[in-house]
Amino acid sequence: MNEYDSNRILDITKSIGYISTKNITEADCYVLNTCHIREKATEKVYHDIGRLKKKFRNSKKPILLVAGCVAQAEGEELLRREKYIDGVIGPQSYHQINNVIKNIERKDKRINATEFEVIEKFDKLNLTRNENSKTSSFVTIQEGCDKFCKFCVVPYTRGPEHSRSFSEIFQETKQLIENGTKEIILLGQNVNAYNFKNKKLSDLIYKLNSLNGLERIRYTTSHPKDVTDDLIDAYKDCDKLMPLLHLPVQSGSTKILKEMNRKHSIEEYLNTIEKLKNRRGSMKFSSDFIIAYPGENDNDFEETISLIKKVKFINSYSFIFSSRPGTPAANLKIIDPKIAKERLSIFQKTAKNIKESYRKSLVNKKVKVLFENRLKNDTKYFGRDEFFNSVLVDSKINLTGKILDIKIEEVNHNTLFGKVIINNRKEFAA
Ligand code: SF4
Repeated sequence: MNEYDSNRILDITKSIGYISTKNITEADCYVLNTCHIREKATEKVYHDIGRLKKKFRNSKKPILLVAGCVAQAEGEELLRREKYIDGVIGPQSYHQINNVIKNIERKDKRINATEFEVIEKFDKLNLTRNENSKTSSFVTIQEGCDKFCKFCVVPYTRGPEHSRSFSEIFQETKQLIENGTKEIILLGQNVNAYNFKNKKLSDLIYKLNSLNGLERIRYTTSHPKDVTDDLIDAYKDCDKLMPLLHLPVQSGSTKILKEMNRKHSIEEYLNTIEKLKNRRGSMKFSSDFIIAYPGENDNDFEETISLIKKVKFINSYSFIFSSRPGTPAANLKIIDPKIAKERLSIFQKTAKNIKESYRKSLVNKKVKVLFENRLKNDTKYFGRDEFFNSVLVDSKINLTGKILDIKIEEVNHNTLFGKVIINNRKEFAA
């Protein structure tokens, strides 16, 4: 979502004369768009600013804005502690960025813009042309979260759930397709809670599935409780909806899920997975895990291990629990760091074995790849298969924007390496 927000910030500021530059020291304005999910997020902001100060030691100081969730959560403190910052802008207020910059240019004052104004923000975004014309593009459809998992800052930094208008999403997608986009990734903190005047995520997917020129639809991030039957049915009916679902589960223990306030059991999670596989046999899953959540005992951890062996997630993202200030879990007694590290190591080894055996099974198989770009100074093209695996292929012909059958010849932990299958000739001609 931050990548999407950064692109929209660029689109908005173009109207007051700003363009992007790769040469940092020639920047007149530097926007640091931050994420508050990972550990030590605020310290990273101060480190980045320290590096920035060094770069600008011999040139004119740029306007420095800190945007995103760290600005939302700790804006006042940032302004107090770091005088180099000219303004802080929360994720629901970045539509005001031009006013903020103009005010700072007039040397009015330092500015704190961290109100929750998501309706106004979506209105402004609808008036700004999304000039992102990548083969694969993000579209925000929903922001905020009402779930209040005990470990998470999102309900406090992004505010309550708010869904964007159905027709505006459709318009933005059409405009991206005109610019060359073939794949849309629908974004939201709780994307499958999308609900605009009783239109749900599944309604949106059915509608987008009928759009000429659009080839692939993905969405992220989902909450297991909001994977409703209508959404599951979309996997049977909508051929453009890709067969990989990132469905964060966090723990394999129902007891721990309850303590996290995740609002579902492991049985319900597995039931959802089964239903999805019944609708689309090729379905695969990836997930997020918090290891050593306060109260997790050996048995709970074993349940997490047995869950990943059962579902065979093709990607598992795991972190040891670390508390976020202001969340209900912040004051819970943490697990002995030595035990937590041991559990993480066992988890990651198991997840790696599952991933490796899946990837080895792809050698000599045919996969459909949507190519996104050529690597810099190389003849290799980068694309993704239907399961979002990165694929590299050597080609003298420009493959960008094409969907081709590729034979996989080699794999490693991050990338599949393949060759274009000759019967793609028709597609080349097209
Ligand atoms: S559902 Fe996701 S975004 Fe919402 S509180 Fe839980 S972890 Fe955070």
